[in-house]
Amino acid sequence: MVAVLLALWGDGFSLGQAAEAARPNIIFIFADDLTCQAISTYGERRQLLQTPHIDRVAREGMRFDRCLVTNSICGPSRATILTGKYSHRNGFYNNSNCRFDGSQPTFPKMLQAAGYSTAIIGKWHLISEPTGFDHWQILPGQGIYYNPPMNRMGEQVKLTGYTTDIITDLSIDWLQKRDKSKPFLLMTQHKAPHREWAPALRHLGWDHDRQYPEPETLFDDFAGRSKAVRDHDMGLDRTFTDLDAKFQKVPGMNDEQRKTWDAYYGPRNEAFRKANLTGKELVRWRYNRYMHDYLGCVKAVDESVGRMLDFLDREGLAENTLVVVSSDQGFFLGEHGWFDKRWIFEESLRTPLVARWPSTIKPGSVNSQIVSLVDFAETFLEMAGLPIPNDMQGRSLMPLLKGTVPADWRKSLYYHYYEYPVPHHVRPHYGVITDRFKLVRYYKPDLDDWELLDRQHDPLETRSFYNDPAYAQTVQELKAELERLRQQVGDTAEPPKSAYGDRPLE
Ligand code: CA
Repeated sequence: MVAVLLALWGDGFSLGQAAEAARPNIIFIFADDLTCQAISTYGERRQLLQTPHIDRVAREGMRFDRCLVTNSICGPSRATILTGKYSHRNGFYNNSNCRFDGSQPTFPKMLQAAGYSTAIIGKWHLISEPTGFDHWQILPGQGIYYNPPMNRMGEQVKLTGYTTDIITDLSIDWLQKRDKSKPFLLMTQHKAPHREWAPALRHLGWDHDRQYPEPETLFDDFAGRSKAVRDHDMGLDRTFTDLDAKFQKVPGMNDEQRKTWDAYYGPRNEAFRKANLTGKELVRWRYNRYMHDYLGCVKAVDESVGRMLDFLDREGLAENTLVVVSSDQGFFLGEHGWFDKRWIFEESLRTPLVARWPSTIKPGSVNSQIVSLVDFAETFLEMAGLPIPNDMQGRSLMPLLKGTVPADWRKSLYYHYYEYPVPHHVRPHYGVITDRFKLVRYYKPDLDDWELLDRQHDPLETRSFYNDPAYAQTVQELKAELERLRQQVGDTAEPPKSAYGDRPLE
């Protein structure tokens, strides 16, 4: 690419003019804990929700069916997207004690330096202030769902309304007021549908008290699995709090909002108390409450996507704007009896990724290659005609967006999760993922267990084949591949103690 730019110089073009005509805009719509099972284009068997606007992005662009994360948790995924590097290289391992080093190179900084207008609006969650953005307005920490305080370029402001709608309003407002002489990068980052899953008032009761189809593994007994899996603390049976169940007030609402809220939840909570449910019936009630709330939050995110697409249409910007919708990881919607994320298992490992860019992506494309959040930075840099730093650890998705698959595209991906023991008691683990298999090692603090998952023979991931003699050769091959990947990404040293969070390992 550098050679191309130099050639343009050599031909007597102004670099500014030549590149400006072609350089695409980027709208990166990013949700928090949004999972493929909640998006209709992904074809979830339970048909939990219709998401017409996210589906539209896929229909007019490309759906990636296996976009995987490298460390399934919020802050680390954001740091990986910005830097194009794994946690051990960008220094952001967990949500507990890490602070993003904003002095390191990031793709927004590079786009900004190359003449892009850059903005981030919504959830940031990296503790330090954003760098590389002409404009930023962020939620402090996790943010809240109603009437959120925000930090606008260092100024504390408080807004009234539902946070997903506010982030959308602010994003469209920035687009309207932007410097129209420049291409732009806009990162619209929602809090939703993160815990505590508080839907907009207009979506309360949206499902008409539907009883949702259950995942096959709602009552997984984890037989034959590692202690690491059995010892989780993310079960609908054991972990679901009063706030999760909406027996406690969600923060931030004013009296008027609260009235509408209570009119929905009040009678239903009362009926629940009278029913005095226990055991499986209690889990089932929680599952249905969780689905109403989580999917209700997703409805507002989907509407936000629709509003952004409509704006691009009205402004004539659609043709040369890449619209990406993605999330920092997937999420369990009752599979294995869980909510939350963190595990190398498919529901939390796989994250949604749909992309529309009419000038480049063939409508209705579907890609099943292994791609990852670690690829995003390089993709955006290549789109903008910028060189890719050698120390970035992903690979540009540009050839895939153009409908080709390079012969040497990755056949495996390296994964490493750290945060333990709180919250949710998911032990640190690393592993290798291929199209069919996952080999994972749980290595701290009181065990050293391996599991082998075979998605072909056990798509629900309820068994480990690690000790099955029929898989001995597979285990050997995957161990070699895991070692190769650890060398390749430079993750061979013992992680620092702080990588696991700010509580000592038990
Ligand atoms: Ca998240």
